[in-house]
Amino acid sequence: MSYLDSLIPPIREHRHPETALAHGSTRLGHGQRRNTCAVLAQAERSFTQGSICPLLPALGIMTSLPETVVLLHGAVGCGSCAAGNNVNIRAGNTARGRASKDAVWLSTALNEINVINGGEEKLTQAIIEAESLYHPKAILAVSGCLPGVIGDDIDGVAARIQEQVTAKILPVHCEGFKSRFMATAYDVVYHAVGRHLMPAKAVGPKDPKLINVMNVGSMGLTDEKEITRILGELGLRTNFFPVFSHPESFADSTRAAMSISICPTHDDYFLNHLSEKYGVPYIIRHMPIGIKNTGQWIADIGLKMGLGSKAENLIKKEEEELLAALDEFKPLFKDKSAFVSAGEYRSLATALLLRELGFKVLGIRSFHFDSFAEVELDKLETGADFVFNVANVQPFEEANLLKKLKPDIFLGHWHGNSTAARLGIPTQVIYNSGYAYMGYQGAYDLARRLHRRLANPSFYQRLAGYARLPYREQWYDKDPFSFIRESV
Ligand code: SF4
Repeated sequence: MSYLDSLIPPIREHRHPETALAHGSTRLGHGQRRNTCAVLAQAERSFTQGSICPLLPALGIMTSLPETVVLLHGAVGCGSCAAGNNVNIRAGNTARGRASKDAVWLSTALNEINVINGGEEKLTQAIIEAESLYHPKAILAVSGCLPGVIGDDIDGVAARIQEQVTAKILPVHCEGFKSRFMATAYDVVYHAVGRHLMPAKAVGPKDPKLINVMNVGSMGLTDEKEITRILGELGLRTNFFPVFSHPESFADSTRAAMSISICPTHDDYFLNHLSEKYGVPYIIRHMPIGIKNTGQWIADIGLKMGLGSKAENLIKKEEEELLAALDEFKPLFKDKSAFVSAGEYRSLATALLLRELGFKVLGIRSFHFDSFAEVELDKLETGADFVFNVANVQPFEEANLLKKLKPDIFLGHWHGNSTAARLGIPTQVIYNSGYAYMGYQGAYDLARRLHRRLANPSFYQRLAGYARLPYREQWYDKDPFSFIRESV
């Protein structure tokens, strides 16, 4: 039986129990990892400062879908982070030649009375209102924690009201309390798409040149163009989804010759579904960030499509051109150190790219760690002093770590960057959907931006003289992982 036969998708902890429970942090040498993860699997913190609810990445995908309303069924604060995503939605729509509009998301704003009496009637009325206000092609009815706790049946509401509305209604089960792994977000969105937007069987004959490329919210059209350029050199065409895909276009994926993931931890749920139900084979390893990783990603496609030697020639040509272009930056990177803080796969792939550019990578802070990333960690061949911090945010640990490690550059999301910058460490945003990051173009662009940062770090040095972090000096005297309990 497929996961998609159930109304509710499983959480990552249940689907990948073997490795998906790492929450701790450690210094690890190459070869120590498996033992370490056995310890981390039981690790808990006696103090936590904050974490990411799976709604955040789920909203990043859902709000990007054109002609779609995201209807959050929950407390009014639930999903308020969607406002911060508007810049990506506007920029992404504009880049794709669509109207530059904010994401459309509404809330049923459940209150105390609804908690006692139930919120199904409110959800029903909100779906009718969303239809009459926006006339969307799809309405994503997203359950937050409250409906999950009081037992609202969002699938029942959707089934009852579907005949009265033109939009396709997709119940999405994204109750934040259920999973500590934000990667669960990807599964819940794919689950809704698979159950409600996909056809009963493949549409039309297979297109032997069409490749499904599963994109992620942390890449923009610039990266999609680079992937399209590379695969175009092999005579292949790309079908990107789910981010910024029209709800009526998902069915096209059933015609592709194969699928490939950009970020393996993002996609296995749907890749398996496409393979089992529609006979679309897939590859799920490597992320096309960095020189070697991009080459391996292309080589895999070449082999699968019977284009092995063409792919090898392309990789050779692109690498020669890129390495020559990077020569001007490398002298400044020699003897420089870096720390990377991001989602699991991007942080590991970025660390590999930094090594290729000549940096010493001191450590990584990853939001979670699971079996998909083991191959990337193996590639890193970490030394005994390498720090691997698995933390769903926890900025106090990051501040302590950075103060001790003192990297020359920090690559992270805006919250981590603000911590590092106030410590006087130059920062580089690890993703901005307007920047190139993937493929050969992305490697060059990142090197260029890092060079600019490091050539003149005076802004950060001056900032540290004025800006403070909210922690007492005593905290920095302690081990950054002193709140991690190794067994519970
Ligand atoms: S789903 Fe739950 S954890 Fe997530 S924002 Fe809503 S109430 Fe908070």
